[in-house]
Amino acid sequence: MDGSSAVVVGGGIGGLAAAIGLHRIGWQVTVVERASTLEDAGAGISLAANGLRALDELGVGEAVRNAARGQYSGGTRTPRGGWLARMDGSALERAVGTPIMGIPRSTLHRLLRDSLPADALLIGTEADSLQQVSPGTVRVGRSGTVLEADLVVAADGIGSAMRGRLFPAHPGPAYSGSTVLRAITEHPVDPGTDFELTWGPGAEFGHIAFPDGRAEWHAVLNLPAGTRFADPLAELRRRFGTWHDPIPALLDATRPTAVLHHDVHELRTPLPSYTAGRTALLGDAAHAMTPNLGQGACQALEDAVTLAAALATAPTVQAALAHYDAERRPRGQAVARAARQAGRMGQQLSHPVAIALRNTAMRLTPSRAATRMILRHHAWVPPRLR
Ligand code: FAD
Repeated sequence: MDGSSAVVVGGGIGGLAAAIGLHRIGWQVTVVERASTLEDAGAGISLAANGLRALDELGVGEAVRNAARGQYSGGTRTPRGGWLARMDGSALERAVGTPIMGIPRSTLHRLLRDSLPADALLIGTEADSLQQVSPGTVRVGRSGTVLEADLVVAADGIGSAMRGRLFPAHPGPAYSGSTVLRAITEHPVDPGTDFELTWGPGAEFGHIAFPDGRAEWHAVLNLPAGTRFADPLAELRRRFGTWHDPIPALLDATRPTAVLHHDVHELRTPLPSYTAGRTALLGDAAHAMTPNLGQGACQALEDAVTLAAALATAPTVQAALAHYDAERRPRGQAVARAARQAGRMGQQLSHPVAIALRNTAMRLTPSRAATRMILRHHAWVPPRLR
């Protein structure tokens, strides 16, 4: 192999996972992260078997499972509480060895960071340029100085400046039509199940329970981009306060200042390649998708393991990057399309007739068929890193 040093731009889930993979195959790796504190904004996250298997390969799976809660019970409901589909975590566990697991994002970030050498992460450092200096070397500018490496991993998220430099004709992210408010409850609550989604017209409310008894909830609404509320919690009580238990209780258990509000964007125009020269795009920089399948981070974890395995086995960096693109682009873009479709048929659906048809179809779908559909995305087997 003709390379052994990498700069990873972005210290999110994708960038940290990529750095761990590269470190495990013996590469010298530096992660540059522009945030100057590691406060880990964000609420909770669900990790499916594919993401957990990727974490196993990175050596972090056991620690993540120990800090997460298995999603055995729950499912999808109507605002009055009727069940459209029940979740069968045990069936998933039998099929792929694990249920989906819920974990606070801050815990996942900490566990990933702890798997890297302390000096591998440069925080408060923005990569502001990218240059191919020779066929084997790329240079990443950072606040007046430069880092040179054999490979750059652009894991700088949905707004990726690296992607903009490498693919200037690409239109970039598009607004999905949905905005999301979310938080973690201040204290333990009993939501009754491990995971739920509830669909009303153009609206979704969901929760993920954590091992310590707290829960994350999210509320998604069809609204124009940029809509903001003076008192988000009061607005959510107005919209969701009459929905079934435990929704009002979850809102009551939340500090008003804990509510995060983001518009959901996605890369609707697929990228022509996940690589350019000596740069690999990874995670949301490559395939930001709507959250409707809970797969964005799982796909970033798949990317990270695939990239490291390719670099460990291919004869040259160029060959490894070609393999990475061929393996990851069809998969990432297919999951992104499926996530968009799931959003259109789920949270975004607002016409009463369409909702009635969907709900009837869901009630009639046997749970085994629903599990088979889920497995299309979850039953991914990682390449071996060791
Ligand atoms: P990011 O997390 O965006 O990280 C990019 C990092 O790069 C940031 O830290 C940023 O500060 C840094 N950066 C940017 N530019 C620069 C620069 N120039 N120099 C240095 N640093 C830079 N996925 C799941 O698998 N399961 C779920 O349950 C799930 N739920 C979701 C719920 C919601 C509401 C949303 C919006 C997403 C959800 N996702 C989920 C998707 C998941 O959150 C993302 O796919 C994942 O976090 C992307 O990680 P990333 O590392 O690619 O990008």
